[in-house]
Amino acid sequence: MPFWILIKDKEDLVNNMIKIILATSNPHKLEEINAINKNPNIIFDVIKGDFNPVENGSTFKENAAIKAVEASKITKTYCLADDSGLCVDALEGRPGLYSARYAPTQKEKIEKLLNEMKDVPYDWRGAHFICSMVLVDAQGKTLHSETGKVFGYIDDCAKGSNGFGFDPVFFIPEYNKTMAELPEEEKNKISHRANALIPMLKWIEENL
Ligand code: IMP
Repeated sequence: MPFWILIKDKEDLVNNMIKIILATSNPHKLEEINAINKNPNIIFDVIKGDFNPVENGSTFKENAAIKAVEASKITKTYCLADDSGLCVDALEGRPGLYSARYAPTQKEKIEKLLNEMKDVPYDWRGAHFICSMVLVDAQGKTLHSETGKVFGYIDDCAKGSNGFGFDPVFFIPEYNKTMAELPEEEKNKISHRANALIPMLKWIEENL
């Protein structure tokens, strides 16, 4: 391994602080990840400029790895990618891997989903969000991965204005609310992203 790469890895660990670049251009993900991370020595930042790698993996984890490796080629530092989506039981797991491409805008995505689900009774409306996270080093080598899920139901109309994406139609019976009606602190305790990030942070604290 070239000497300068070793130096570069050490630079990211100066004063016991570790800086990790998130391989995303979605500002909501940075906000949620910063809110979940309680360790002041782990600093997250997003990749600057346009970042649209071709997500042609066949699993969430493969897509997360593609994004993390692409980000490490640009930034030459530790990179964390999150690939997430909504899997609906009655739609045989759709939109799943294609959640981001299900319709052109988020409003249209929600309308399309409510339309596809319009004749489905409550008991059959089960769904889950999934989030796979992959952490790579400055050379793009996978260091660790985690997957988190949260289970709920698809509501029959959109409710709430917090969060993003499909949150307004993702109903959580334990709270009797949609994800978008939950205060952000609550979402960040139970979400698929929290369920992947919390063990990921523990791994980072113990291993980097
Ligand atoms: P990606 O991980 O950026 O490819 O996200 C895929 C899509 O899944 C997003 O565009 C959203 O529509 C949906 N999604 C991912 N995470 C969430 C979430 O926390 N709430 C609601 N929708 C989400």
